Amino acid sequence: MSIFPLITIAIDGYSSSGKSSMARQLAKTIGYRYIDSGAMYRAVALYAMEHNMINPEGTIDTRSLIAALPEIKIGFRIEDDRQITTLNDRDVESQIRSMAVSNHVSPIAAIPEVRHALVAMQQQMGEQKGIVMDGRDIGTTVFPDAEMKVFVNASPQTRAQRRVAELIEKGIATTYEEVLSNVINRDHIDETRAESPLRKADDALVLDNSTLTIDEQNSWLLERFHEICSNL
Ligand code: C5P
Repeated sequence: MSIFPLITIAIDGYSSSGKSSMARQLAKTIGYRYIDSGAMYRAVALYAMEHNMINPEGTIDTRSLIAALPEIKIGFRIEDDRQITTLNDRDVESQIRSMAVSNHVSPIAAIPEVRHALVAMQQQMGEQKGIVMDGRDIGTTVFPDAEMKVFVNASPQTRAQRRVAELIEKGIATTYEEVLSNVINRDHIDETRAESPLRKADDALVLDNSTLTIDEQNSWLLERFHEICSNL
């Protein structure tokens, strides 16, 4: 239970910009619920891969996936202080972070029906406020009335370096070149899709964290939260 006023916090930005870590930390500090909306798109991509809805060339069987959407139940639970993403009650947290899922997720996230289904779930999760959600369209589409909106960016090279370090720490084999090309490719698909493309909301605060330490970006975010609460 939070001791702070309950508002809605939307944190958007490019892939691997560090927005999830800062969003998670802010939620923990202020006693809010944290939702990683990217994990939800990743879970749908994993479902499509496991049900042979993506052929070796990467073409998606969109019709079957849309028909299966009512069968896809995505949830979150906390285990040992870690947030675990579940797909039809199965722990898929490690699997959704794999490069295979990273390579398929953006075309899946560009399908309007997939977005409509996930946006509806996300809006329901945020009905009571007291939530920090991160993603690509949270401040523009999911919660356009959020009291606090932040748009995070850093250069593709900085983001790729961070992501490689994260993946290696998790024991996932990869190279800098592979991750950089995935980051650039996902940015492009996210920015150019017709349905709620990645863009900064007009009223979002901008944070370029290329040269900030984790502690500095967490402090910046917490200060903005206190400022917004004191002006409510
Ligand atoms: O945040 P993360 O990088 O894990 O998200 C994975 C992918 O899901 C993104 O590259 C993007 O294509 C998609 N996504 C989205 N809208 C969101 C969150 C993620 O389209 N709100």
